[in-house]
Amino acid sequence: MSQRIPDRVDPRRLAREGQTLSGSLPLDSLPRLAALLQDATKEADFSLRFGRDRERRFTVDLALKAELVLECQRCLESMVLEVDTHTPLALVAGPMEAEQLPAELDPLTLAAEEYLDVAALVEDELLLAIPASPRHADAECSSHLKEQQNPLAERENDNPFAILAKLRDGENHN
Ligand SMILES: [Zn+2]
Repeated sequence: MSQRIPDRVDPRRLAREGQTLSGSLPLDSLPRLAALLQDATKEADFSLRFGRDRERRFTVDLALKAELVLECQRCLESMVLEVDTHTPLALVAGPMEAEQLPAELDPLTLAAEEYLDVAALVEDELLLAIPASPRHADAECSSHLKEQQNPLAERENDNPFAILAKLRDGENHN
């Protein structure tokens, strides 16, 4: 993973040559992403496989692996989001072409001068992998543990409103 990756590559040339670029990027070099992380000292591993499909479209298969340390929005402690994604992309000239793509291909619009900014693409995909409200799984979330340890925590059976609702349900069925 020590291959030197240029900042900008020509995806059409790489597709004609059937090239794959792989490498890793420090998370703290991706500023929009790093702003969301509690620990940006790790790296994201990526691989970009360039090619053309049967319709002669230029395609890029993006594979990404990273561990993102985020703040759980329920207990506010840190959590690790394992990202391991594979995204098939197709180069498009604009929104019209993007609409014509089959569902399995995501559109990839090039920025200035028809070059692909590798770091920006990796950063965009990592941002997409983060849920709107990241949370631990129920069993791992410490807010869940706190609830169990707290004798005053509401449990459905002790909740007078839940009991009332059950009584009403019973009446309706009789
Ligand atoms: Zn949590």
